[in-house]
Amino acid sequence: MKISIIGTGYVGLPTGVGLAELGHQVICIDREISKINRLKEGEITLFEDGLEELLKKNLAKGNISFTNSMKEGITGADIVLIAVGTPPHPETKEADMKYVHAAATELAQYLNKYTVIATKSTVPVGTGDDIEILISKTNPHAKFDVVSLPEFLREGFAVYDFFNPDRIIIGTDSDSAKNVLTELYKPFAEKSKILFVKRRSSETIKYASNAFLALKIHYINEMADFCEKANADIDEVAKGMGLDSRIGNKFLNPGPGYGGSCFPKDTYAMHFMAKQNGVELTLIDAAIKGNEKRKQNIAKKIISKINHIYAPKIAILGLTFKGGTDDCRESPAMEIIAELLKYELKITAYDPKGMKNANELLGDKIDYADNMYSVANDADILVILTEWEDFKSCDLHKIMVHMRHKNIFDTRNILNSELVKKIGFSYERIGQ
Ligand code: NAD
Repeated sequence: MKISIIGTGYVGLPTGVGLAELGHQVICIDREISKINRLKEGEITLFEDGLEELLKKNLAKGNISFTNSMKEGITGADIVLIAVGTPPHPETKEADMKYVHAAATELAQYLNKYTVIATKSTVPVGTGDDIEILISKTNPHAKFDVVSLPEFLREGFAVYDFFNPDRIIIGTDSDSAKNVLTELYKPFAEKSKILFVKRRSSETIKYASNAFLALKIHYINEMADFCEKANADIDEVAKGMGLDSRIGNKFLNPGPGYGGSCFPKDTYAMHFMAKQNGVELTLIDAAIKGNEKRKQNIAKKIISKINHIYAPKIAILGLTFKGGTDDCRESPAMEIIAELLKYELKITAYDPKGMKNANELLGDKIDYADNMYSVANDADILVILTEWEDFKSCDLHKIMVHMRHKNIFDTRNILNSELVKKIGFSYERIGQ
């Protein structure tokens, strides 16, 4: 099958590479000329474990190609996957649909045979109907079906998740589209659950899932606050809760708040969709508010630990919104640093993969260290904001010799508290 993918970002690129590995003829389209030029050379434009090797392999086989031209990308496609961004609108924070609408309008003119247009982007309920109208208006003779095909990959595990999806949700009533997508997902039919639903249900499943996960994180964060006051230990509480199979042990890690390019924007979008439909989603509204306040509270806590020190210096470990990715969009670390900068504090940070993206957001407002030890040079407090594996196994003695004051604030609860205290640090973590 010839598969065209519009948008070569965190969703489009791993999906394209994965489909090429399955033997399909994939062409990835993106507006960004420099991105396409780098990808044509086999250079990855975002970090995902295992992605570069698969990209190079499939480029060499001729299974995948890249273009800036919509005409070249769409002509003759059996399936077009729309994987462009749906960021929060800068003012209202509802999902900004300008990229999806532009992609739908641009692709329409090149449809020259029956094509399935599948939306991988996370889009508000009813977007499938809008895309249908846009395409028909631009190309009244086009033969197509619009399907909702939400993406559930986790950044940091995108390649693994492509080949091992928990479920594949396909939102369509069209038998022709069902046949095409059944063929596409044949290799997954045995190990994954493929669920056909109505298009609007599929669009809702994506938001309902992300909002639920955001709520779960917010819930454990609130329980952590309770544990701090009640002299209980959130790690023990989370472990005890997680043993109940109805609750499950995932997403029960307390931290600085949920972030990333999905949960914050998708909870906002859900809030707006509910409002438009005259429904109140009180839990989601509470999570949105609580999660924003949490990052301010963490910044205040950091300041309270160093405000007695003259010209204090803060060392930050971790800038990405979670370990395993280079993505800093809506990262709690970015927001906490922005809060700290209001107090004109001196900050040096280190992240294994996220420094380039962080630098694009923060510029020279902070300093960047070469490694997780030099970041601690003359620091009065070391704050861990991302749960990178490297940080878990750092040599604490080596960190200690660099620091002016021996304070660690571990907002991800990744260090061994007994060991850290034994070495002589003043150590605080979340929910204890
Ligand atoms: P991204 O910003 O990384 O990539 C989007 C790409 O689309 C960019 O490279 C941009 O240049 C390109 N683009 C935009 N308009 C275009 C057009 N008209 N023609 C060609 N290219 C165009 O975004 P992302 O993180 O991959 O997310 C894409 C969608 O998938 C979003 O709706 C997001 O909510 C959803 N999603 C993301 C994840 C994730 O983990 N990042 C997971 C599931 C779903």
